[in-house]
Amino acid sequence: MDLNLTASELKFRDELRAWLAANVPKDWDEWREESLEARFDYLKKWQRKLYEGGWAGISWPKEFGGRGVSLMEQVIFWQEMARAEAPPLANVLGLGIIGPTIIAFGTDAQKRRHLSKILSAEEIWCQGFSEPNAGSDLASLQTDARLDGGHYVLNGQKVWTSYGWAADWCEVVVRTDPSAPQHEGLTVLLMDMKTPGVEVRPLRQMTGETEFNEVFFRDARVPVENVVGQVNDGWKVAMGTLMHERGTFGAGLQIIYKRNMSRLIELSRTTQRNGRPAAQDPLIRQKLAQCYGEIEVMRLNQMRAFSRISATGVPGPEGSIQKIFWSELNQRFQQVAQEVLGPYGQLDSGSEYAIDNGAWSYGYLRTRGNTIEAGTSEIQRNIIGHFVLGLPRSY
Ligand SMILES: Cc1cc2nc3c(=O)[nH]c(=O)nc-3n(C[C@H](O)[C@H](O)[C@H](O)COP(=O)(O)OP(=O)(O)OC[C@H]3O[C@@H](n4cnc5c(N)ncnc54)[C@H](O)[C@@H]3O)c2cc1C
Repeated sequence: MDLNLTASELKFRDELRAWLAANVPKDWDEWREESLEARFDYLKKWQRKLYEGGWAGISWPKEFGGRGVSLMEQVIFWQEMARAEAPPLANVLGLGIIGPTIIAFGTDAQKRRHLSKILSAEEIWCQGFSEPNAGSDLASLQTDARLDGGHYVLNGQKVWTSYGWAADWCEVVVRTDPSAPQHEGLTVLLMDMKTPGVEVRPLRQMTGETEFNEVFFRDARVPVENVVGQVNDGWKVAMGTLMHERGTFGAGLQIIYKRNMSRLIELSRTTQRNGRPAAQDPLIRQKLAQCYGEIEVMRLNQMRAFSRISATGVPGPEGSIQKIFWSELNQRFQQVAQEVLGPYGQLDSGSEYAIDNGAWSYGYLRTRGNTIEAGTSEIQRNIIGHFVLGLPRSY
């Protein structure tokens, strides 16, 4: 593993850095503490700007609007975005996991129809996998899809569908053969969210946002040409999506964590605890140093994973190691932040303690979901035990 950037990667980084310096919107600070719903149009416009500058979905093939760059350059992209404190992209699931799934498994017609609109944020995507009785055990999902002429007719329910309220399209996993063994009767469909019979109901989270939703299907008709991959072979397609979600998705997180860490260190110098700056409290110092070390470990672990994916071309089960590490580290860090800030940590937006997406209180509350979304920590450990360490299955 060589951690140094090559000459062409350095050139790429410098070009991107210059573009971001000229184009990151100056008024982002005024928007970043707004709720996701309120700032969503702003984020769509920002993604459109990146697209027009040739910086959206850069790892995608050139024929579909990408740059066909290497994984390493993709990682550099996320790192530079974080370093420039650029706004996040609106079509986060379309770009990060659903577009790559269509590229890997979709038909030519599906690629032509969907990919450029994902890049430009003209069409926003959501991921309809989880159901009330099928989260960790995704293969037990029950949303029923019966063939009727040239359509599948969907009945059932999805839940925790992030961005469902904003989405134009959904990658949905359905059961097309109820008589087949669990993993074998599933199919992945691309579904227009405006299809009659699709109802989206928001779920309010403890952060106050309605980032995710329940989605109900009542005789919703999806054309057969919207099947991704083979009928009844949807498990393979769905796992491809999840590998992207766990593998490369967290590339820019390390820089964001490091930036938040620097802010917390600064705050620890000025925030009083027991009559002296928190930075002078031995326990707080230990905890800050521990977090700092862990954020460095995260960087090195990610580099190892990325260099492995570069060699194999696909994210593997090792992505679960990244997923566990970034999600649990983020929770530990937010806990330390609350200990440093004391009662100030409960302040909402508009305070000097604000960080990305709102205040420290937002960060603390939102990170609780990190160890659940994209597969819980227990499930990631099961995957590592079985597929990485070769241990027998526990379930
Ligand atoms: C912020 C957020 C965003 C999300 N966005 C989406 C989205 O866009 N689309 C989507 O489809 N889903 C989404 N989800 C849902 C997410 O994928 C599920 O919540 C997750 O897979 C867990 O499923 P569950 O909630 O049904 O919990 P369960 O599967 O019921 O798990 C309950 C508990 O049991 C444990 N457990 C279950 N099985 C095992 C086992 N075999 N071994 C050990 N422990 C086990 C779990 O770890 C957990 O602690 C999101 C969730 C969150 C929190």
